[in-house]
Amino acid sequence: MAEREVLDLDVLFVGAGPASLAGAIHLKRLLHESGQEASVAVLEKASEVGAHSLSGAIVDPRSLRELFPNYNDADFPFEAEVTEEHLYYLTATKKIPFPFVPPPMSHHNCFVTSLGKLTRWLGGICEDEGVDIFCGFAGTELLYDGDQVIGVRTGDRGIDKNGEKKTQFEPGADIHAKVIILGEGTRGSLTKKLINQHELMQGRNSQVWAVGVKELWRMPTGTVPPGYVTHTMGFPLGHDIFGGAFLYGMQNDIWDLGLVVGLDYKNPAVDSHHELQRLKNHPWIRSLLSAGQMIAYGAKSLPEGGWYSIPKLSVGGAMLIGDSAGFMNGQRLKGIHLAMKSGMLAAETTAEALSAGNFTETQLADYESRVESSWIRSELWKVRNFHQGFDRGLLGGLTNAGMGLLTGGRGWGFKNRLSAKAGHKKMEKDVEKDRYKDLEFDGTYLFDKVTDVYYSATAHEENQVPHLHIRDRDVCTTKCAEEYGNPCVKFCPADVYEMVPDGDDQRLQINFSNCVHCKTCDIMDPYQIIDWVPPEGGDGPVWVNL
Ligand code: SF4
Repeated sequence: MAEREVLDLDVLFVGAGPASLAGAIHLKRLLHESGQEASVAVLEKASEVGAHSLSGAIVDPRSLRELFPNYNDADFPFEAEVTEEHLYYLTATKKIPFPFVPPPMSHHNCFVTSLGKLTRWLGGICEDEGVDIFCGFAGTELLYDGDQVIGVRTGDRGIDKNGEKKTQFEPGADIHAKVIILGEGTRGSLTKKLINQHELMQGRNSQVWAVGVKELWRMPTGTVPPGYVTHTMGFPLGHDIFGGAFLYGMQNDIWDLGLVVGLDYKNPAVDSHHELQRLKNHPWIRSLLSAGQMIAYGAKSLPEGGWYSIPKLSVGGAMLIGDSAGFMNGQRLKGIHLAMKSGMLAAETTAEALSAGNFTETQLADYESRVESSWIRSELWKVRNFHQGFDRGLLGGLTNAGMGLLTGGRGWGFKNRLSAKAGHKKMEKDVEKDRYKDLEFDGTYLFDKVTDVYYSATAHEENQVPHLHIRDRDVCTTKCAEEYGNPCVKFCPADVYEMVPDGDDQRLQINFSNCVHCKTCDIMDPYQIIDWVPPEGGDGPVWVNL
């Protein structure tokens, strides 16, 4: 029988996103400066760094400048500096410009960026600094000694769809480390376990997420100005669904068109993919894209809750960074600089812990203090009630945001803290079922989900246990079908969930190989019975430029 391999390290980052990669680089340099030797590794579920990285993205370069003080902005792998910026309110047929972009929403001095390119670049620097990056391995369990986290177990390989071992079965490895830093991105599966096990959300607002869906369009030469930025409100989401669209000009005549949809809507028929297709039906967007060709598709959730939804950040032996911890400025629609800074602060805490030989909860609590006294706190404090204001719709949310600007972040009624209810609890049973009745997928401009999934290049070994675990399938065919009309079929942007005939009834079919790892189902299921767990390491999307 194959033996489980055991690997002993000093520090393990889980997830090769910007938070972990910046943290690993910073840690290696700190150790070098203080003359300490320590093994530092990054565990990544994708087949290569960047393959699961997706964001808008416009990057505030603040953390990059801190991490690379000797570099110029031109040395970073940005697409272009923001040169032209617009904010529009869209009706179904018109676009109405805001007279100016409010300064807190301005992207002046920021850069249009492909997160995949940025993480690949950071990954290369990690390797130059001596960090080991293990791609194609997903962490599936946290290892404990009492209450102290002491490692991560990676997933077994070679289990068939019935749960039986195949001939090429290999048990996952146990990676032991003095410090585990979870930077898995949004709704990480280990992060979810850590938060639940240690009750890290106690006293916090519920986290509230959104999902971003996007397509890249290659356009005729000379038609896309790199650095062009537009954000919109209104159509197609209307006033009752939080979110809006973005359109960014990238290099090589590529438009980056996306839509952010708050995962706290009431109507269970809402479908973020279909909303993006509706957006493309707007005459202005059609006039921009119709001469082009769609070349890539992806989706990812993002934490919108803000400062009050950030969990307790450390336990004995482990810390949370980046999107795993909820470091996102919803008002600026920016988290990459916050993610990187959080990784760097966790690195500073780790360097001191290694020097002291102390990895207890008390020692690692220093990370939370560092966050509290950093610019992360001052940036997020000013917008601490931003998302909660949209409980009253678009106009209520904008008014609340304006009040926040005048009061240093207070919300409605000058309250210091507005509460937030988990998004899935807001779903209502009366549905507007025909929201997409006019949407016709022509396969050349408007795409159905399966076609879009093809452009995400996602792939999973078919003969494995599906990585979407439903704790009680009876709920799907009874309560959920009756009460909400199976919203998983709608909210999954990759057509993973399908209700298919089964005799006189219906049953849930899970097309797990379509999954683009956005985590929307784990977040938005009204009964909270879906657990997204990592598939076999290396499986999933293969994004290049998203
Ligand atoms: Fe996203 Fe879940 Fe659908 Fe996968 S199955 S694409 S994680 S909603």
